Amino acid sequence: MEQKNITEYEKSYAIKEHPSIKGVQIIEGKNNFPISWLNQQGYCEYQIYMKGIETAATPEMTHGSDIHNQLEEAFKKDATPTSFEDAVEASKSEALMSRECFVVAPEFGIRGFIDEIWMKPDEIVIIDDKPGRTPYFSTMNQVRAYCLAYKSMTGETRKIKGALRERGTSNLFWIEVFTPEVEKEIRFTIERMQGLLEGSKPFIPTKNPNKCRSCRYKRYCEHFKRD
Ligand code: SF4
Repeated sequence: MEQKNITEYEKSYAIKEHPSIKGVQIIEGKNNFPISWLNQQGYCEYQIYMKGIETAATPEMTHGSDIHNQLEEAFKKDATPTSFEDAVEASKSEALMSRECFVVAPEFGIRGFIDEIWMKPDEIVIIDDKPGRTPYFSTMNQVRAYCLAYKSMTGETRKIKGALRERGTSNLFWIEVFTPEVEKEIRFTIERMQGLLEGSKPFIPTKNPNKCRSCRYKRYCEHFKRD
């Protein structure tokens, strides 16, 4: 597949930072949060509440970002720059792939970077790289939200698939067609996130002590129970 580095977008938005929630932007009058937060929401909603606290990156996070940066550098050496819209159009007749593809959907209040996207004449495959090979509900939701944002930006009529890949390998260990049912579910989850950010819904802490034990916020969290 031809490699395209997406560097431009025809459409741009006026962005305001949220006055009190770091990382949330206001785009077209609506709170807009990073899609990666859905990963945390599925793990423990209270982590989102704790986000304002600066904590050191875990070794797993540092390792993950090193691999990510290496792949990104290698990709940029071989890829041809293009705009998002031209890539979408060109892919209707010839398959191409890109990395770190930015997507934003003001309508739903979400934005983020797709690790890798394959645009083919008959389908779009949206891939997120993860450590390990377990498809967690939270990571599946993250990919579903990328699919939703991509569809919202393009009005895509080709089949869209979301996939999880074992980081640093070519192993797609989970793949799913983005059906109307899946879309309905992820829209519901995103609405809940919007409710948390607006303060109309409470942040629910996990009841799983194993999750708390490996949580980077445990030192500061009132819900963490020491043994
Ligand atoms: S310590 Fe437990 S309850 Fe608190 S943020 Fe972490 S995972 Fe959630």
